[in-house]
Amino acid sequence: MNVFASFGAFLGAAALAGLPVPTLQTAVSLRDTLVGGRGAAEIARSLCDRVGPRLAGSNGAVEARRWAVEELTRLGLRNVHEESLMEPRWVRGTETAEIVSPVRQRLVVTALGGSGATPEGGVERPIVATRDVETLAALGAAGVRDRIVFFTERTERTRDGSGYGKAVSIRYAGPSEARKLGAAAVLIRSVGTSSTRLPHTGVMKTEAGIPPLPAAALSAPDADLLERIAAAGPVRLRLTLGCRTEADVAGANVVGEIRGSDRPEEIVLLGAHLDSWDLGTGAIDDAAGVGIVGEAARAIVALSRPPRRTIRVVLYANEENGDRGGEAYRDAHRAELDRHVAALEMDLGTDRVYRVAASGGPEANGVVAAAAQLLRPIGVSERGNDAGGGVDVGPLRAFGVPMLALAQDASRYFDFHHSADDTFDKIDAANLAQATAATAALAWIVADEPGTLGRIPPEKRKERAW
Ligand code: ZN
Ligand code: ZN
Repeated sequence: MNVFASFGAFLGAAALAGLPVPTLQTAVSLRDTLVGGRGAAEIARSLCDRVGPRLAGSNGAVEARRWAVEELTRLGLRNVHEESLMEPRWVRGTETAEIVSPVRQRLVVTALGGSGATPEGGVERPIVATRDVETLAALGAAGVRDRIVFFTERTERTRDGSGYGKAVSIRYAGPSEARKLGAAAVLIRSVGTSSTRLPHTGVMKTEAGIPPLPAAALSAPDADLLERIAAAGPVRLRLTLGCRTEADVAGANVVGEIRGSDRPEEIVLLGAHLDSWDLGTGAIDDAAGVGIVGEAARAIVALSRPPRRTIRVVLYANEENGDRGGEAYRDAHRAELDRHVAALEMDLGTDRVYRVAASGGPEANGVVAAAAQLLRPIGVSERGNDAGGGVDVGPLRAFGVPMLALAQDASRYFDFHHSADDTFDKIDAANLAQATAATAALAWIVADEPGTLGRIPPEKRKERAW
C-alpha cells in the first residue's frame, strides 16, 4: 500500500474524529516501531520459562506475582503494586479412565477445573452418550441416573473464536446439569480443535455447598474411540479422579501505570491475565497477552512525552477458574470507574489482530474509524461499535466503561489452549509484534485524544464476553 496515500486517508478519518495531528503522528510511530519488534515475545518467554504454570492458589501464582512486579518495574511503569484478593485453590490429582467392557482400552483424560474426586478406586458405570446440554435434558433423569454422561459435541475451528463460544457451554454447565439428573460422573470431548492425544482442561461451574461431580475431558482421538464403541452397544467405563478443592488463599492483581500529563485521574486500562492452567506453561493463554500489554506500555514510556491520560496496566489474577481478578478490580476501583475512559483486554493468543472495535457512546464511532485507518497498513479492519470486552474487563461494562477490542485470529488458538501443549514454542514473535503494534497505537490514541468514547448506553451494559 502507498504509505503516503494511506496516511492521507488516515488523517481524513482522524480529522472527522477530531484527533490532533501530534497524537496521530505518535500513534503511527508506535505502530511502525513495534510491528517489527521482539519485545512482547521476550516478556512472554520470561514468564513461561522463569515461572511456568501458575494456576490460582498455587505456588506458581505466588512466583508469577513476584515476576510481574519486577517485570512491570523493569519496563518503566510507575506505582507498580499488588492489589490483594482471595482466590480459589483447586489441586489436580490422579486422573485415569478405562473402558472395561465390551473391550478394555485406556483413555487419556484430564480433570476439569473445579471437578470433584471419585472414590479412591474410581467410579465404574455404564456410559450414556449425548451431544450437549439440550440433548441431555431430553434424556431426563431416567436416562442419566447413576451413569457416566459423555458429551460428544465437537469444537468448530473459526477465526473469531465463535466455535469455542458454542462448545464451552457444555464444559461449563454440563457437569452441574448432569448432577441435577443424578449422573455419577461426566466426560466431555475436549473443548479444542487439536487432533493430538492431549486433552484440554478448563473451568466447570460449581455451586457453594454442593459437592461437584467428578468431570474430565477426553482427548479428541479418545473421544472418537469412545463414540465409535458406544454407537455399537452398551459400554462400561471406569474413571478415577483424585482432584480436590481446598480453602481460598491470598492472591493479587498486579498493577502499574504511565501517569498522564494533563488528566492523570482519567484511566485507559490495558489488561491481560497473569494466571494460567496447570498443564502447560500458559504461553498463548495468556503470557502472550502479558507480553503485548507489557511491551506496548514500555514503548509508550520510552516516548518523548507521556499521554494526556493515565494508562494503567492490570495483570489479573484468577481469570481461568474464578474470575476473582476482574471482580476484585471492579470492587477496589468502584469510586473511579466513571473516570475509566476505556478498557482493553488481550487474551486470544499469539496471532495477528484483524479487526478493531469499541463499545461506547456515539463518540466511539469516529475513534474506531480513525483507529481502523491507522491500523489498515498492518492488516486490521473496522468492526464497529459493539466490542464485548472479556472476562477480566467485562465487569466494568455494568458501569458504562467503554470497551476496546482488537480481535486476534483465533483459527489455531484452540489447538493448544488449556492443554499441556500451551508452551513457549507456540508463540509467533512476528504475529505477536503486529498485535503489540496495534495495541500500543490504539491505547495511545484513546489516552491522548482530547475527546472520549462516551459511555456504553445503559441498555447495552449487560456483561458478555467477546
Ligand atoms: Zn485466557
Ligand atoms: Zn484460558
